[in-house]
Amino acid sequence: MSEETLYERLTPAALETRIKAAPVAYLPLGTLEWHGPHLPLGSDHLQSQGFFIQLARRVGGVVLPPLFLGPDTMKTVDGAEYYGMDIHQKAYPYPVRLKGSAYWVPDKLFADILDAVLKQLRRAGFRVVVAHGHGPSTDYVAKNREALEKRQGLTVLTLWRSGDERDQDTEFQGDHAAANETSIMMALHPTLVHMERLPRDPAEQPLATMGKDPRTHASPAHGQKIIAAHLDRMEALLKQKLTLVNR
Ligand SMILES: [Zn+2]
Repeated sequence: MSEETLYERLTPAALETRIKAAPVAYLPLGTLEWHGPHLPLGSDHLQSQGFFIQLARRVGGVVLPPLFLGPDTMKTVDGAEYYGMDIHQKAYPYPVRLKGSAYWVPDKLFADILDAVLKQLRRAGFRVVVAHGHGPSTDYVAKNREALEKRQGLTVLTLWRSGDERDQDTEFQGDHAAANETSIMMALHPTLVHMERLPRDPAEQPLATMGKDPRTHASPAHGQKIIAAHLDRMEALLKQKLTLVNR
């Protein structure tokens, strides 16, 4: 069944119908960021957006265009800025400016952008927002959930489970460009994954990936399993939230 879920492709009347049926907006928190030599630079939003389209077909709601600006750890060395995986990766001379990364904004600017987006969504008639993708962006939403809800009059969710249930293997986007994210990309966007670009020597760690080795642990089946589990969980959670906001 083809069912239009992308905000920008809906007419005003179609948007209104969807909001009436389920006032849920899905916000893919992306980056343009190095995700190993084997994955595309938009991997963060390609995963959450792909997942949200499937979730919206089950629950209803509307998928927003991705944000590609996000926060991350930042360091200035000799006047040059390094951020995110430039800094975190250990196996190479430190720090290294990774090719293709173009997403960093200060925490405060990200917080302001997010507030502006949520305010517009509330104004357009949404009552629930699910935001997920890039780790530090998702982390900001998860940590500030209650304050955001209060400030914007919305129910705000991410796909992350509570701390003790969180597991790098089974979380949605639980690592960085390693077995978890590579598997999700294999399941959602198989033509965009280029495993042959990873180093052939098993002793050579792939540059700036964090998590289990994708060469030995990633598979489309693992990705599908992660997606299916989170679809079921989020469907149940959203249906429960929707009965509350519809009261
Ligand atoms: Zn990622």
